[in-house]
Amino acid sequence: MATALQPPVQTLPSGLILLDGRLVEPVRPDRMITSIDPATGKPIMQFHACDAEDVDRAVQSAQRCFESDAWQNMRPLDRGRLLERLALLVERDREQLAALESLDSGKLLAVTDAIDLQFTIDGLRYFGGWASKITGEYVTHSPLVPEPAIYRAFTQRRPVGVVAGITPWNFPIGQAIQKIAPAIAFGCTVVLKPSEETSLTTLRLGELIIEAGFPAGAVNIVTGYGAEAGAALVDHPLVRKIAFTGSTGTGQRIMEAAARSMKRVTLELGGKSPSIVLPDADLDRAIPGVAGAIFANSGQICTAGSRLLVHSSIYDRVMEGVCKIASDIKIGSPFDATTQMGPLISARQRDRVAGLVAKGLEEGATALAGAQTPDGEGWYYRPTVLGGVERDMTVMREEIFGPVVCAIRYDDVADAIRIANDTPFGLAASIWTRDLDRAHILADRIDAGTVWLNTHNVLDLAMPFGGNKLSGVGREFGSEALQAFTEPKAVCIRL
Ligand code: NAD
Repeated sequence: MATALQPPVQTLPSGLILLDGRLVEPVRPDRMITSIDPATGKPIMQFHACDAEDVDRAVQSAQRCFESDAWQNMRPLDRGRLLERLALLVERDREQLAALESLDSGKLLAVTDAIDLQFTIDGLRYFGGWASKITGEYVTHSPLVPEPAIYRAFTQRRPVGVVAGITPWNFPIGQAIQKIAPAIAFGCTVVLKPSEETSLTTLRLGELIIEAGFPAGAVNIVTGYGAEAGAALVDHPLVRKIAFTGSTGTGQRIMEAAARSMKRVTLELGGKSPSIVLPDADLDRAIPGVAGAIFANSGQICTAGSRLLVHSSIYDRVMEGVCKIASDIKIGSPFDATTQMGPLISARQRDRVAGLVAKGLEEGATALAGAQTPDGEGWYYRPTVLGGVERDMTVMREEIFGPVVCAIRYDDVADAIRIANDTPFGLAASIWTRDLDRAHILADRIDAGTVWLNTHNVLDLAMPFGGNKLSGVGREFGSEALQAFTEPKAVCIRL
C-alpha cells in the first residue's frame, strides 16, 4: 500500500538498556527483539529481550538511588531542573525523535511532532514545576492521651519509592514521560519497560537521560516482553508502585499480582467511548469532530470515539458526512505529508481488527464504509463505519482499537445516556450540542473519567486522566499525580 519512502531517521538508538546510569547489555545479550516498520513490514533494528535477572539489577539500582542521601536530600527544585534539562534535550532532538517514533509506530510524522513530541516536552516541564510544590497540611490536633500536653501535628507527602512504569505502543515516548516525569518530580525512582512493539524512542530517551545528568539509578530502562520483563517488574518485592498503561486484560493480571504485596497501582486501560450527537448539534463541527474522534492515530487511541450515538432526526445526514470522510481519507506512508492515516501497529492487530469487523457483519451489522484490508505492503486497514449495530453485538462491547466506528440511532436523549453507559468501560465520552445547559446536565450522567463537550480526545496535563469501571484505577496528570506517586505521612510532636 504505502510507497517505500526513505524516512528521515539519521540515528537509531544503540539498543542498549539504561541500567544504573550507564548503557549496558543485559545478562543474556543474544536474546533479541526485532522492531518492525508497520508501514512496510520491514525490520528496523534489534534490541534486547531482558529477563528477570536484568529487571532485578534495574530495580536494585533504582532502590539504591532512592535510599541514597544524595537523592533523599536533593532539593526539589533540582529534581525539577533534571526534568527541564531533559526537556531541552528532547527539544534539541525533536525532529529526529519524531521521525524515529513514526518509523517504529506508523504514526503520521506531522502528528507525532505536533502531538507526541509536544506532549513529551510539555510533560517534562509540567511535572518539573510540580517538584517544588509538594505540600502537606498542618493538622489541628486532639490527641487521645490521658495527661494534658501540647501537641503539634502535620502531614507530609513522601515518595512511594521505586516505581515500575509499563507502557503500551500507541503513544510510546509520551507514555514513557507520563511515567518518568511525575515519578522523578515527586521524589521516586523508576524502572521503565516500554512496549516490545515500540521501544526505540524510549531507548533513545535513555541516552538523553544520561546526557541530562540524572543520578545513576534514578531512571532505568529495560526492554523486553510483557510476560517476562513486565511480569518480573510487577512481581519484584522492591517495587512499591506500578504505573501501567495498556489493555484491560493485562491491567487485571497486574492488579491481581500487585495485590499479593499490596503494591500501589495506577492502571490506565482500554475504552469504548461514545460520541453522542444531539439533535441541535452544529453538524459542521460535529461531523468532522466525531470522525476525527475515531480515525485519529488509526483508531489506536484509548479514548477513541468508537461508538457513535446519533439522534434519529439527523442520523442520515451525520452518517452521510462521516462515511464521506472515511471514504476520502488517504492512507499511506507516515512520512508523506499528504497522508491522513497511517498503518496499524502490527499484522496481528490489523488481523484482529479485520476479524472483529467480520464478526460484526456476521452478527448483522452493515458496512457503510471501509471494512477492507488494502493490498500491498504494510499493515493498513480502511477507515470503517458500521451501521445497523445492536447494543449486544461484539463490535459494540469489545474495544477494537482500530479505525472502526459503530453507529447506533436513538430517539430519546435519556436512551442515549443509557446506551452510552451500557458498556463495561468508562474512560471518556463526548457530547455534541449547542445547548450548553443540557450538555452540563448530560455530562453529569455519563459514567466516564473524562467528558468532552463539542470536542474529543483533547488532553491537558493539568486535568486528571483515567477511567472508571474496566477502564482503570486511579488518575494520572494534574494534582491527582501527587496522590498517585506519594504516600501521606502524619508527624506528631509533643512540645
Ligand atoms: P498491552 O496490555 O498488551 O501491553 C502494555 C504493556 O504491558 C506492554 O509494555 C507489555 O509488554 C506489558 N505487559 C504485557 N503483559 C504483561 C504482564 N503480564 N505483566 C506486566 N506487563 C505486561 O497493551 P497494548 O496492546 O500495548 O496497548 C493497547 C491498549 O492500551 C489498549 O487497550 C488501549 O486502550 C490501552 N491504552 C490505554 C490508555 C489510557 O490511558 N487509558 C492509553 C493508551 C493505551
